[in-house]
Parts: sequence; structure tokens; C-alpha cells
Amino acid sequence: MVPTTNNHPHRNGEAYTKVVPSHHHPRRIVLANRPEVAFRRRNVSPELVYMGGPLIENVHVVTVYWGNTWHDPLTTPYVKKLNAFFSYIVTSPLIDQLSEYNMNGYIIGHGTHANNDSYLITDSDPAPTITDTDIQTMLQTEIQSGNLPPFDQNTLYFVFTPTGTIVEMGGGASCSSFCGYHDNISGKIFYAVTPFPDCSGCMMDFEDPFEAFTVISSHELCEAITDPIPGNGWYDDNFGEIGDICEALGNVKRVGDYVVQLEWSNQQDECR
Ligand SMILES: [Zn+2]
Repeated sequence: MVPTTNNHPHRNGEAYTKVVPSHHHPRRIVLANRPEVAFRRRNVSPELVYMGGPLIENVHVVTVYWGNTWHDPLTTPYVKKLNAFFSYIVTSPLIDQLSEYNMNGYIIGHGTHANNDSYLITDSDPAPTITDTDIQTMLQTEIQSGNLPPFDQNTLYFVFTPTGTIVEMGGGASCSSFCGYHDNISGKIFYAVTPFPDCSGCMMDFEDPFEAFTVISSHELCEAITDPIPGNGWYDDNFGEIGDICEALGNVKRVGDYVVQLEWSNQQDECR
């Protein structure tokens, strides 16, 4: 969450002070237009600063649909559409525009999401309310048992929870304080979570939850690539990560057939 109060130093003379953020909780989409309000109040121009940690070079997205309800006729179409979205978007101009953040030997290029990179987890069902710890436990359990493929430095597990499931993380809950987030386990397992966004807090202005899905997922995808260990990659101490800077109602564009969120560009000094 982009903090509304600001008590760390940001500029030291002309150079940014590289402060590793004290809040290591995952970045997430904040609802509605709070960041926009914060942006206007602060009157500080965003700038992502490289904090020295890893980036994801060629993201390998593994989609993980947790729970038997993903078999339901109503939700099955989302699996197909989301998989098509990821297969397209990881080789799209959305990834190309991240190359300005190549750094320290890390070259951000196209990723992969193949037909066999989609997994339904049906040996466990999430409870109506789950925590981020539950998600981490599920991932580790399924990786260990071989139900999910092993990870390397490019793997990004993208977890989707069923409609109605509330995910609690960092003192907030999905649909009331965030719509998605990404994080890491021990600096090695990178993952993102997009709870089913069919709630007033996460539908934004869309009528089809799928469009909310792609906007939220594009936000988390770009952030996971440029800041897989939150606060250790490209980060702005005022505004957060590449997607946080630009999250505001209507800050979207079309890439191919999909609606995605705008992302911050240091080079262009704008959301694009
Ligand atoms: Zn974010």
C-alpha cells in the first residue's frame, strides 16, 4: 500500500537517498483513487530508484487456480481467458516497455506462459477467508509434492482464488483494501495473487470481471518483474513500485485484445 504519510527522507541534495523501505510488506493495488490523492498532495515527481536486488529477466508465468470451484461452468471460462492473456502479454509491448529498467546485468526480455503452465489445485480448497501465509503454504506444499512445477529465478506463480474468497494480507483484506499483490518466499519463490475481482472494490469501472483481472494482473506482473523482492528492485520511496505510481481509475490502455494498467516510465516521466 502506498503510505499516506511520509516520514522517511527522499531527496538528499540532488540525489536520491537510497533508503531500503522499512515496510517490507508486499505491494498491492490500492482501491479507487487514493494514490492519485496522495500524488497531488505531495507534489513530488515520481522516480523509480534501483535498490540493487534481482529483477526477473524472462518471466515464466505459472498460473495457479486454487480450489475446485474453478471447475464450475461459471468460472471455467476465466481460466481459459486468463491463460490466453498471459500467453500473449508476456511477449507483448507491455514487456518491451520495461527494458528501460535493465540494470546490473539483468536484461528484461520476453517471457513464457505455455499451455502446460496452467494448474488447477484441487487437492485442497481455500477457506472463505485465507491469509497470505495460507497461500505461501499452499505453494510450497504443491511444489514439494510435484503438483506445481519447480521454480527458478524466472518463475512467477500467479495465484487466483475463487469468487467470494477473502485474502488477508498485511492487516488488510482483498476487496476492501487491496485487489492484488505480489511477494516472495525467502527471496527465491516469486508469486502474485489476484483474488477474484467481482466485488465493488475491485471492479473499477468495468462490467466484466475479466477486464479487472487483466488490469490487476498486468500491474502485478510488471511489478514482479521490476521488483520481485518488494523494495529491493526498482522502487520509489514516495509512491512504491512501477504500477503503484500509476494506479488511478482510468489509467488503463489496450494492448492487443486486453486492457492493462499504465506503468511508470522514468525515461518518459509519465505513466504509459
Ligand atoms: Zn502495486
